[in-house]
Amino acid sequence: MKAALLAQDGSVLFEARRPTGREHGTDAVVTAILDFAADLAEQGGRRFGEHPLAAGVAVPGTIDERNGIAVFSANLGWRDLPLRKLLGERLGGLPVALGHDVRSGGLAEGRIGAGLGVARFLFIALGTGIAGAIGIDGRIEAGAHGYGGEIGHVVVRPGGPACGCGARGCLETLASAAAVSRAWAEAIGDPAADAAGCALAVEAGDPRAAAVWRGAVDALADGIVLAQSLLDPGTVIVGGGLAEAGDTLFTPLRAAVAERLTFHMPPKVVPAMLKDTAAALGAGLLAWDLLSTEVTA
Ligand SMILES: [Zn+2]
Repeated sequence: MKAALLAQDGSVLFEARRPTGREHGTDAVVTAILDFAADLAEQGGRRFGEHPLAAGVAVPGTIDERNGIAVFSANLGWRDLPLRKLLGERLGGLPVALGHDVRSGGLAEGRIGAGLGVARFLFIALGTGIAGAIGIDGRIEAGAHGYGGEIGHVVVRPGGPACGCGARGCLETLASAAAVSRAWAEAIGDPAADAAGCALAVEAGDPRAAAVWRGAVDALADGIVLAQSLLDPGTVIVGGGLAEAGDTLFTPLRAAVAERLTFHMPPKVVPAMLKDTAAALGAGLLAWDLLSTEVTA
């Protein structure tokens, strides 16, 4: 878990990290979240002489933002958890915003990160899976059911590898950090090989690595071009583990996107800036939004 105290202008006053403790079960994770938030609020009081005015929490899985319910997370094990209510009670009645981790990360990239000043962007996180967020005028478009921006499950290779979602050939089966790790491990017959090692081998001129990398870059470019056709973002912000490869990813990716576009205006394809704290910062921005909404309402 990553946490931060955020000033109203989005600047970070204090940051902290803790394990979720998910090996001890779902209840332990929920307790760990509530304890962490309470400790952070207390730290705010001690260090800055003032308690936080609101709190935000961003979690993975399916979220009902309106009702403050963490509906489902396969990784953390909860179902229909009233996290907003629990956190509000623990923090003595503070207003609490509940967000989705990737959409919150996208919100932060849009307002204080790589998308600063960009009215329309697409945020793509290349991690164990691939997730995305659609940024429009300083907010994130979650869609009618909370699945807006799920570019990881766009089918780019019909009949391709089986995806955890039940479909085949989804983008995340081909271009996530986990997919590149799998393909690279298979290519060199080393089960411990990973995507970071593949990127290094690409840089060293290994043709097997180049072939694995090409497959991921091409799939990602196909996904981005599809998104470009539907959403026409000015900027595509790419983050997550695979984006750590820097120019090794971005140089061929920009070229692959450019060569696929016909009539579209090309988006800028840029690396994310906020790294793995993006979701925590986004949760803080959601908390500030809550206050400004209450003031104007
Ligand atoms: Zn899928």
